[in-house]
Amino acid sequence: MSMTHHFDYTLQNAQGGTCIAQAWAKVEPPLPASEKYRIQQSIKQALAAKNAVLIAHYYVDGDIQDLAIETGGCVADSLEMARFGRDHRADNLIVAGVRFMGETAKILSPEKRIFMPDLEATCSLDLGCPAEAFSAFCDNHPDRTVVVYANTSAAVKARADWMVTSACALAIVSHLKDQGKKILWAPDRHLGRYIQDQTGADMIMWNGDCIVHNEFKGEELSMLKKLHPGAQILVHPESPESVVAHADLVGSTSALLNAVIHGDATQYIVATDKGLFHRMQQLAPSKQIIEAPTAGESATCKSCAHCPWMAMNSLNGLLHCLENQTGEILVPTSTREQAYRCIDRMLSFSRQTGAGTAHGLVPNLGAA
Ligand code: SF4
Repeated sequence: MSMTHHFDYTLQNAQGGTCIAQAWAKVEPPLPASEKYRIQQSIKQALAAKNAVLIAHYYVDGDIQDLAIETGGCVADSLEMARFGRDHRADNLIVAGVRFMGETAKILSPEKRIFMPDLEATCSLDLGCPAEAFSAFCDNHPDRTVVVYANTSAAVKARADWMVTSACALAIVSHLKDQGKKILWAPDRHLGRYIQDQTGADMIMWNGDCIVHNEFKGEELSMLKKLHPGAQILVHPESPESVVAHADLVGSTSALLNAVIHGDATQYIVATDKGLFHRMQQLAPSKQIIEAPTAGESATCKSCAHCPWMAMNSLNGLLHCLENQTGEILVPTSTREQAYRCIDRMLSFSRQTGAGTAHGLVPNLGAA
């Protein structure tokens, strides 16, 4: 039977005020080995029969990541997932991730059908930035270029000038600053602050955060580093400033993965969702990956460094959506067409500049 967990997240209104709201996620218990094998085989057959391809995020369960690779799909960050789905010839895209990823796939590939194992799998950044309040916030600042993170609803993207992912955000905001633009940034305040520090851009921020990365702790990280003095510290920029301050490298999930694969160190302390460790261990088996500390001894489930909504993606859910065509992502045409502009702008920029490729590592100028 699935377990339901409750989580607090930051919800902002149009005036910049915030409150703490509550969300939930349900997670299935692990499957017995024989049952797991049977479902994996059924998923492989269903993918072939339905002309479908599985596109998985680095944070979902390792079994789903392995299945995506085995069946010719991909495991990637949200930027690469969007590109892969658009360019693949399959009629049906099965997106294992959270809802905004499915919506982005639909916006880029309206002729394809997009299915997800669980449409309730969402993101605290998306939840904390409701479209109506965000639109009013934009109306209050008409002189600013609106830049939104990928972790937003299609309706929020429809109000934006640019979409960015953590892989290309720094390059795009630098580009806008060079053009003399003032920026309205949403929704992740930690990523926004990091980009503002690095670029010096004039930015006002939405006050959202990721419930996973927000839990990493700077002081405990520095204590852990003392136990592993040779370890490199890799930090995702959705983490708080006190954590970023200790980083040897700040970067997107792909950048962190590349740092482990190509880096000289043998140990890495990593501050991001631990779903990524599966791929890190596969591609760099000789390296030791150490979890960055969250709330320590008193850690609650919300600080286990694993996204509860990513964990809602299950093998059972995958098979169910494939066999029954449930969990289809639908985006109203007008929203899709408006949201397409900001995503296409980002993809064109990335294509022209190489931003967000494996070379897009972000040095941490403020490393302690
Ligand atoms: S890890 Fe954080 S940013 Fe990513 S989907 Fe989960 S809540 Fe959202």
